Amino acid sequence: MKFYVSCDMEGIAGVTLREQLVRGEPLYEEARRLLTLETNAVTDALLDAGATRIIVKDAHGNGFNFIPELLHPGADYVMGATRVENRFPGLDKTFDGALLIGYHAMGGTPLAVRDHTMTSQGWQSLRLNGRPIGEIGLDGLLFGLQGVPVLFVSGDDKTCAEAANELPGVVAYETKTALGRHAALMKAPQRARSELQAAVRRAIENGNRPKPLRLDGPYELTIRFLHTEQADARRYDGITAERTDGLTAVYKSDHLTGLLAAAF
Ligand SMILES: [Zn+2]
Repeated sequence: MKFYVSCDMEGIAGVTLREQLVRGEPLYEEARRLLTLETNAVTDALLDAGATRIIVKDAHGNGFNFIPELLHPGADYVMGATRVENRFPGLDKTFDGALLIGYHAMGGTPLAVRDHTMTSQGWQSLRLNGRPIGEIGLDGLLFGLQGVPVLFVSGDDKTCAEAANELPGVVAYETKTALGRHAALMKAPQRARSELQAAVRRAIENGNRPKPLRLDGPYELTIRFLHTEQADARRYDGITAERTDGLTAVYKSDHLTGLLAAAF
């Protein structure tokens, strides 16, 4: 069995502050250790469940957050920034499932740790074909293009609620209960890691696995920016890219990856 694991950082147990998420901040070094150990716990659980190939992608910020020396030898790792149309290098139709670890709720979610969609600096929110969408939904669709279902999601309680909504049948594990953008009722990371492993095993052994996520085209992606200058900086042809108000741009395409490449 082959599994693809995408790791973000906001939903990792023990992480709740901006200073833990940004390179150069003193708290960042501790948080990347938490990220690396939680990722290793997932790899251990997948190997226990019979995985023969595991690719783990570092999906936070510039994609270089794992501490390489501490990484579990049982997986291969995608590190560094990649374009959205190649968001999951090495993924193909032979993979049995995907896991989203340490994820966060979509931009605009109330009382969620570091809620955002793709960037906290530029965008308030995204809609795809009229429906609000966050990174769980977007990544679910990208895995779905390869026929790969998302089997498991971890993060705060709002992340898990979003996952249940976007991915019917997914197994979700709460590492913390969010009390605000920078506050949470936390599980101790050591406990979270062992509970996470049990939950991952449940997801793999689940006889009733979720289906790959699909959304038929044509596609329309609406980006709501934080500041007008971010919308000013874009090019609009009036056909595939249009500015509908000071803070909003709409992109259209028949192809999902083409759409994301144009908009991101
Ligand atoms: Zn992140």
